[in-house]
Amino acid sequence: ATEPYDPNNIFARILRDEIPADIVYEDGWAVAFRDINPQAPTHILVVPRGPYVSWDDFSERASDEELAGFVRAVGRVARENGFVVPGYRLLANTGPHGGQEVPHLHVHLFAGQPLGPMLA
Ligand code: 5GP
Repeated sequence: ATEPYDPNNIFARILRDEIPADIVYEDGWAVAFRDINPQAPTHILVVPRGPYVSWDDFSERASDEELAGFVRAVGRVARENGFVVPGYRLLANTGPHGGQEVPHLHVHLFAGQPLGPMLA
């Protein structure tokens, strides 16, 4: 089972405007901001507004509206930044083996150069 949601995780604090972030997209379901330690020319994190620990937690507990709203938001961030034609990569690290460090679901969006077969 997924751990309980920690309302003081760093992305929850960004969502509450308690700490600054370079926000590039916001709607009713999601917020997107630049990763503080970019691993590609463009590296954006897209997070749902709701309190979900991980992809596992979100896919199980979120309403159909939240699921749809978040998936659409991720697509919009990519489209609005012009990444559709050159292409981009999405990644959701989940749990310890996935290398997840922040316990609020985030989808990494990498773009801006050919990314190769795998991103470490
Ligand atoms: P994870 O390993 O959990 O999938 O990725 C967490 C990501 O969040 C890392 O790429 C890390 O650079 C980024 N990150 C951690 N703390 C902050 C922060 O305070 N602000 C921003 N913008 N990104 C952060």
